[in-house]
Amino acid sequence: MRTISILGATGSIGASTLDLIRREKDKWRVVALTANGNAAELARLARAFGAQVAVVADEAALPALREALAGSGVEAAGGVEALVEAAARPAGLTVAGIVGCAGLVPTMAAIRQGGTVALANKEALVSAGDVMMAAVSRHGATLLPIDSEHNAIFQCLAGNDPAHVRSITLTASGGPFRDWTQERLDAATPEQAVRHPNWDMGAKISVDSATMFNKGLELIEASHLFPVGLDRLRIVVHPQSIVHSMVEYRDGSTLAQLGPSDMRVPIASALAWPARMDTPCGPLDLAAIGELTFRAPDEERFPATRLAREAAQTGGAAPAVLNAANEVAVAAFLDGRIAFSRIAAHVADMLARYNGAAPATLDDVLAVDEEARARTREALEAV
Ligand code: NAD
Ligand code: MG
Repeated sequence: MRTISILGATGSIGASTLDLIRREKDKWRVVALTANGNAAELARLARAFGAQVAVVADEAALPALREALAGSGVEAAGGVEALVEAAARPAGLTVAGIVGCAGLVPTMAAIRQGGTVALANKEALVSAGDVMMAAVSRHGATLLPIDSEHNAIFQCLAGNDPAHVRSITLTASGGPFRDWTQERLDAATPEQAVRHPNWDMGAKISVDSATMFNKGLELIEASHLFPVGLDRLRIVVHPQSIVHSMVEYRDGSTLAQLGPSDMRVPIASALAWPARMDTPCGPLDLAAIGELTFRAPDEERFPATRLAREAAQTGGAAPAVLNAANEVAVAAFLDGRIAFSRIAAHVADMLARYNGAAPATLDDVLAVDEEARARTREALEAV
């Protein structure tokens, strides 16, 4: 029996993970399942999977969780401290599937156990960067990427010496607005932004995919997971989302990982690593897909990848500032408070006005994150 905790169990990553676990129930014992405020759904999952503890980060949802779990034998807890305590409970594998920097402290608690952390929560790594990577090595933890691109790169690097890498290329679908004119982009609505052509994901990452901040965040994520140097990290737009990323070696060989656009494939790769497991995903039918196409990203219409590269080059607090400003701007866009094109404008503005020393501790990261959020909110109100 292997033990597993899922942070963000009610989300899209959580659902994909639980779908795989459900098919091998006799192999897994579920320790903690967590959510933000959806007590009913969390209780349903905790009962179905016999979790030891279920935690809502939003304390106001605790009474509803308690009630829904009455008589089930599952412990109910609420609040951020309880979330961190649950993440710190011994589990062989923790899936970090919370969205945003809100996942940072619980993910760090999981890393400190020294087990394996399957990371989807890219914002946590973008913000904490070296602080998180240092904790991974200090505590002897194993970090397995489940972001599809990084999982692809991880697989393409297996058995090779990173010293022989010439370049790493992240593929990007280009999002739902890939072919839109600037004029149409300016009028894009939240409903249009969350309708991704290839992937079914949470609202925040769907907007990130539409702005290309998702790829920008992934570039910074890759710079920490695969430290081959920023100048060796590339991005190419690949609308079909079949090639999930690639690694080119010094001899001219390029290894790519292909698969259906289904997060259960990279998640399964992390769950079973270094072995393999079955998934319900069908075989890849390249003849039916017919064409795989590639093109350079357009950083005029989608400045996010350029901003992310600059933030990574600047270093210091810049990546955490970029992430925090983006989170606040995306929330404002989803609330109908700012136009789509203003998301990147606000992030660029924050990066130009605010930077500081590289955060050296988790508390430093949280302080930068909080300050950048406050400043972005102020800037949004000033418009
Ligand atoms: P989602 O919105 O579907 O789910 C987010 C989960 O986090 C939910 O369980 C929610 O309850 C929880 N949560 C939200 N705010 C919280 C808070 N303040 N405190 C504690 N818990 C909170 O998001 P998702 O699409 O599953 O994405 C999760 C993470 O995985 C993101 O970082 C995203 O970038 C990354 N990711 C997602 C996909 C995908 O296909 N969905 C692919 C690659 C990477
Ligand atoms: Mg990805």
